[in-house]
Amino acid sequence: MALLHLLKGAESISSLRDRNAAAAMATTAIVHLFQPLTFWWLRSETASDSLLMVSRTGPNGVWLSNADKVGGTERLARDDLYQRHPRAREAIESHRTLHVPLANGNYSVLLPFFNPADKLDSLLVAECREPLNPEQQDGIFCFLHFYANYLALLDYGELDTLTGLHNRKTFDEALERLLACQPEFVGPGEKRSVDASHPFWLAVLDLDYFKRINDTWGHLFGDETLLRFSRMLKETFRHEDRLFRFGGEEFIVLVRAQDRDHAQQSFERFRRRLAATEFPQVGTVTCSVGFTQLDPARPAIDTLGCADQALYFAKANGRNQTCNYEALIAEGRIEVHAPVEGGSGLGFDIDDYFA
Ligand code: GH3
Ligand code: MG
Ligand code: MG
Repeated sequence: MALLHLLKGAESISSLRDRNAAAAMATTAIVHLFQPLTFWWLRSETASDSLLMVSRTGPNGVWLSNADKVGGTERLARDDLYQRHPRAREAIESHRTLHVPLANGNYSVLLPFFNPADKLDSLLVAECREPLNPEQQDGIFCFLHFYANYLALLDYGELDTLTGLHNRKTFDEALERLLACQPEFVGPGEKRSVDASHPFWLAVLDLDYFKRINDTWGHLFGDETLLRFSRMLKETFRHEDRLFRFGGEEFIVLVRAQDRDHAQQSFERFRRRLAATEFPQVGTVTCSVGFTQLDPARPAIDTLGCADQALYFAKANGRNQTCNYEALIAEGRIEVHAPVEGGSGLGFDIDDYFA
C-alpha cells in the first residue's frame, strides 16, 4: 500500500511543471512511506558545498523551501549539518543508511542517496519510532532517483544551454510570480507573504561593445566570454539572488535589498569585479547596468522597460556604470517610462533586438 502511495506521488509529479508543487508532492509521498516524527530533506547543489533544505516538518506541518523564489530558500553548510547531526558525515562517507538509537527509544535515521555518478543527491534526516526496513529504504531510493530525473528534465527546458543560467522563458514566469507576491511558505497553517521591508530589485546587465569581441576574436571567444561572465555572476551574487540569461549578451539579476543604495552596491560590486578582470585573449570586458525597484502595481513588462531605460542611459553616458531608474527620474535626467500597451514595453520589438 505504501509503495502504491509512492507511485501515485510519482504519477502526480510527472504532470507538474512547478518545482514547488512537485517538492510538496514528493515530500508528502516520502513522509507517508515511513511516517517519521520529524523529517528533513536536504539536497546537494552542484555550485556549492552547502545543502538546500527542500522541506522539513515542523509544528505547523510541512515547510517547503521554494527554490524558485528570491529569498525563499534555506541552506545548511555541511559543517553546520555535521555539528547538528554528528553521524551525518559517517552516513555520507560510508554511503550507508544509519539508524542511531536515541535516549527516548526512537531512532535518528540518516539516509544518504547518491546519483549514478556517485555524487550525493539527497540526505534524509528523520526521527522514527522504528528503523526503516529494506523495502522502505528501496522505495525511498527509487523515488529519489525518479525525482532527480524529473528535475533534470525540468532543467533541460528552463536553463540556457551555453551558460547554465535560467533562460528567458523562466524569467517571464519568475517575474510574474514575484510581482504577484506569492506566499513564500506553503503548508498547513503556514503561510507568509513576501517581506515588504526588503523589496526586490531588477537589473538588466548588457556587455559593452560585445560585437567587437565577436568581430575581433570570433564567436567562439564571444561564447567563452559569455560563459566566464555568467560564472562571475554566479560567484558574485548570493544564493538567493536569481540570475537569468535574457538573450544574447543581456542578463537579468533579481536581488532583494533593503534600499536602493544596498541594491546599487550589489550590482556595482559585480560591475567593478568584471572591469578589473582580465579575460584570456579578449582582455578587459565591461558591462552597463540599469536597475529598478519591483513594484507589484507596475506590470512586469513595464518593470523591464524601466530597467532598460536606465540601462540605455548608462550606455549613452559612457557605459561601464550602474544607473537606477528611480534616481534618474528624480534627477530629471530621463522621462518617466511610458507604459506600452500591447508592446514589448521596451520601446522596440524585442525579437528585432536579439535577431
Ligand atoms: P553595446 O555596448 O551598445 O551594448 O554594444 P554591443 O556591441 O554589445 O551591442 P549589440 O547589441 O550591437 O551587439 C550584441 C552582439 O552580441 C550581437 C550578437 O551577434 C552577439 N551575440 C548575441 N548572442 C550571442 C551568443 O550567444 N554568442 C556570441 N558569440 N555572440 C552573441
Ligand atoms: Mg551589448
Ligand atoms: Mg545587447
